[in-house]
Amino acid sequence: MILLDGQGRKHDYLRISVTDRCNLRCIYCMGNDGIEQTSHDQILSYEDILKVVSAAAELGISKIRITGGEPLVRKDLVDLIKMIAAVPGIKDLAMTTNGTLLPRYVEALKKAGLNRVNISLDTLNADKYHKITRCGKFEDVIKGIDASLHYDLNPVKLNTVLMKGINDDEVLAFLNLAMEKPLHIRFIEYMQIGDHDQGYSNHYLPLSFVEKTAKKAGLPLKPVPLPGGAGPAESYSIPGAKGTIGLIHPISKHFCDSCNRLRLTSEGSLKACLYWQDEKPVQPFLSDKEALKNLIREVLCGKPVEHKMTADGKYGSINPGTMRGMSKTGG
Ligand code: SAM
Ligand code: SF4
Repeated sequence: MILLDGQGRKHDYLRISVTDRCNLRCIYCMGNDGIEQTSHDQILSYEDILKVVSAAAELGISKIRITGGEPLVRKDLVDLIKMIAAVPGIKDLAMTTNGTLLPRYVEALKKAGLNRVNISLDTLNADKYHKITRCGKFEDVIKGIDASLHYDLNPVKLNTVLMKGINDDEVLAFLNLAMEKPLHIRFIEYMQIGDHDQGYSNHYLPLSFVEKTAKKAGLPLKPVPLPGGAGPAESYSIPGAKGTIGLIHPISKHFCDSCNRLRLTSEGSLKACLYWQDEKPVQPFLSDKEALKNLIREVLCGKPVEHKMTADGKYGSINPGTMRGMSKTGG
């Protein structure tokens, strides 16, 4: 079955935020005091998440990504992974995580049916890591990356948000990391999402900066097919490298015309676009699979043509973009 949105775009990918809680407080994701957390009873139960996955799979969704907040802070996540992996029609099950808790869970996650991970890492410097995450320990995420390679959660991808004045001096170090290790390093353009003041326009940098840095260093980026399937990233190899480089530029080069994703927030709302405020709660439809399927179709039918994020970060005053931060929607 093929699931199309109102613009005729094929949708086969559901991203599920299982919690808005996190053990880190990254400067680009939440304010200094963290976020106002949703109470446990407002978070969608695993049983209800499964109902949404099952309805979505019958409509043509075959790829699931578990995200958050930090998904690994939610109790018994391995059980959810096992249940989703067993849903007929689900062919790819991935997770986006800050990686710090992976050493504890990676073996059980792999056994439960998790296929691959994206681990967020914005710097290779331990002090800077502590500053960017406001509390994280660099060695924890490095152990998480090594454990993921060890348990063959292939491909292991790193998500690196490029920020002027913060980590733009480390682009070359990340390119060299891809030379040495079988890691797929995906640079992501910084987005202003949510209502906390991030000094956004001072730190936004288009990803053409990565291409220029690679060229200057004599490391030519050659386009290659994406490791682990389709997505918004442009993927590149460097001759002699064990890993690859990905560029995800939501601001400088829109990829909305090929967007294939639907989101389920931790409180149980379906969102067709990360940017816009529109969302619809699934709770009233959970007892009737056909009604749930109709809701999914309705949400996708109304999916906007594109987001309206801009490099100056001023969209909020012009367009009704969401006030939810990334940890609330699920990045
Ligand atoms: N806690 C997990 C993690 O950090 O990987 C999953 C949730 S996090 C919100 C998902 C992704 O969103 C991370 O890779 C993070 O770097 C990215 N992200 C968060 N805020 C962002 C922003 N303002 N601009 C671009 N990417 C952002
Ligand atoms: Fe937590 Fe991920 Fe947001 Fe960092 S990016 S604060 S790890 S949810």
